[in-house]
Amino acid sequence: MMDLVEIEVKKSKKKIIIISIVATLVAALFLVLGFIFINQSQSVSKQKEEKLLAKEKQEHIIREKNKIIYNDSVKQKIKKIYNYDGKRVFLTFDDGPSKSVTPFILDLLKQENIKATFFTLGSRVELYPEIVKRAYEEGHYIANHGYSHIYKQIYCSAQTVLEEYQKTEQAIQQALGNTEFHSHLFRFPGGSKGGKYDAIKQEAISLLDANQVTYVDWNALTADSAGMKTKEEMLEYVKSTIGNKKSVVILMHDAGDKILTYETLPELIKYLKEQGYEFQNIYDIMNEVE
Ligand SMILES: [Zn+2]
Repeated sequence: MMDLVEIEVKKSKKKIIIISIVATLVAALFLVLGFIFINQSQSVSKQKEEKLLAKEKQEHIIREKNKIIYNDSVKQKIKKIYNYDGKRVFLTFDDGPSKSVTPFILDLLKQENIKATFFTLGSRVELYPEIVKRAYEEGHYIANHGYSHIYKQIYCSAQTVLEEYQKTEQAIQQALGNTEFHSHLFRFPGGSKGGKYDAIKQEAISLLDANQVTYVDWNALTADSAGMKTKEEMLEYVKSTIGNKKSVVILMHDAGDKILTYETLPELIKYLKEQGYEFQNIYDIMNEVE
């Protein structure tokens, strides 16, 4: 017969064995869990890496596609912007960038996956270079609207038009951190024809052309610079100027006070989509396959 001491020893030995087994199991479990966790986080970071690579690749393709090409053929195509077989629309914004309007327009265009054309003012580009850079990086065409927008200053002579163009190009280059950038595209403040400064404008067209710069006006407008009071009024006006045109260049503004333009834009985009227009920007003309 075992004495009591022997039984106690046996019991505690059993206890130790059970505890060791449990401890080993728990440790093994932790080890397995830890392994799974590390593996998973590794695959998550790998996925992230792959996503980033895909994004970079895509951006690169977009950048490649959005190449600024300027030659006679492109110049002719821009001159004939209103001749087109299909239905297309160019959303163009003048007088920006501004802090209170441009970023919101950019957000909306991003959401709608629409690329527009911005005729920037050099003096504004210097104030908000980061907004210009953002617009550029998001695939919008950055074009040139002169520096001062003061008619008697810019239209002093053909030479002053060219000088304002060049000063603005420099401001854009600085904003983009790219001294190779050349928009080759100007929009005359107030349009290329008519008015008090018509003779100087016509002279400037030749001078710009000799400097590898062409220009574009518009054939539709929201009249957002002419005191429209409501969204409805603006929408009706722009619709009436679009009419049955097949290739539409809409003039709008993204200056700081053009909140109504931004507010009207979603409905205008909806209307243009319903009418079957394809949204294009100047890159599409430049990169068109002939
Ligand atoms: Zn303007």
